[in-house]
Amino acid sequence: MIDITMIKFAVLADCFHCPVKGEFEFNIDWLLLIDHQGDIAATYPPQHPEYADLLAIFKRNNCLQVIPKGEYLLPGLVDLHCHAPQWPQAGKGLDLPLYDWLQNYTFPLENRYSDNDFAANVYQDVTKTLLANGTTSAVYFASIHRQSTELLAQTCLNVGQRAFVGKVNMDNSDQCPAYYCEPSVTAAIDDTELFVNNVFELAGNQSRLVHPVITPRFVPSCTSELLQQLGGLVQRYDLHMQTHCSESDWARDYSIQHYGVSDVTIYADMGLLNNKSILAHSIFLNQADIEKINQFKAGIGHCPLSNMYFANAAMPARELLDHGVQIGLGSDIAGAPSPSIFRASFDAVSHSRVREEGVDIYLPASKRGTANARISFVEAFWMATVGGGQVLDAKVGLFEQGYHFDAIVIKANSAIGNLRIWPQFDSAKDILEKIITLAQPENVAKVWVQGKAVI
Ligand SMILES: [Zn+2]
Repeated sequence: MIDITMIKFAVLADCFHCPVKGEFEFNIDWLLLIDHQGDIAATYPPQHPEYADLLAIFKRNNCLQVIPKGEYLLPGLVDLHCHAPQWPQAGKGLDLPLYDWLQNYTFPLENRYSDNDFAANVYQDVTKTLLANGTTSAVYFASIHRQSTELLAQTCLNVGQRAFVGKVNMDNSDQCPAYYCEPSVTAAIDDTELFVNNVFELAGNQSRLVHPVITPRFVPSCTSELLQQLGGLVQRYDLHMQTHCSESDWARDYSIQHYGVSDVTIYADMGLLNNKSILAHSIFLNQADIEKINQFKAGIGHCPLSNMYFANAAMPARELLDHGVQIGLGSDIAGAPSPSIFRASFDAVSHSRVREEGVDIYLPASKRGTANARISFVEAFWMATVGGGQVLDAKVGLFEQGYHFDAIVIKANSAIGNLRIWPQFDSAKDILEKIITLAQPENVAKVWVQGKAVI
């Protein structure tokens, strides 16, 4: 039998997870053992010969959490792309194309984060809101300000959220407003390196719940020298890297006009790609781009709702999944208004269905859409959990030995909220689909990150 002194607590639950892409498991009355580090030490199905003894021991020792029937344990959700400083802008100002949106709304707002007091309020609120929505791992763009970005990293630690936080870098004076632009490449790199070291050394971050992320905003807002030197930091420290990639016609065309190659090639040539790079959007990829992403084992953060406003085209998620590209989901706050990765999963399915059916009523049905473009709800949930974990090179998204215990409990049939489950005629697949399409913060009854209850 397992050495039970290693175990901090056990959870008895009906749980969903997706060990295989496109499939799900619904495991009834599983026993999960969580060790003192907050990792999953073992999982036991009821038919296991030691199950009854272990259950009795943890019950007797008063360290068994029983999730009531009608509530479901799911892996915590992963948000691969969220602009924390844009949180006050969420739900408004989606009327302009990308370039104008940035210049008119976003850069003026992000520039306010030179004020640490203003930042502290927003960062407290956005991290707690994401946790309340079931997001246990979040990848944040902050602003160009090092101090308030360190404050965001500290806030994530304080609220207990696994986080990947980047100080934004942008220095191209042709594209960035004078008030919101790095003073020089040297200053930007020095500041970013200091940020990386400061995040590693934050009090309480010994187990690396919070990671620094190298964050060039995107190709148009950076000089080639800055991109190259940021690539040097990625290589030297083996760091996560996040950026926007081929998000819109304008962004794609900018790279072709100025570099003669695609975003993916630029990032690869600058040393920015590795096995934990997060390329947000990545709409306009060619075959060579896809092969390059796979070669580096980099990943994509698919943000379906944001794409409807800014991408000028639909994301070929079906093809990317079929090509084995690592892909998860992002909220893209505030390029889209919802902080929920359940909502992003739902939107990813809807997005793929519109793509499959097409939109032009003046074309015959046979020519209107792209055949076989749909993705399933289970594939979307896989992206929201396992896929996101793979992109981050983090052991999250599954209930398996060695994975971090990042988990949420979904409670249906609350007095408020929309999620209703009818046990007499809802199958396990129906229940999972209903959770993805209808769960809201009021249904997120409990949240653990690294074995610690944070809600
Ligand atoms: Zn973005």
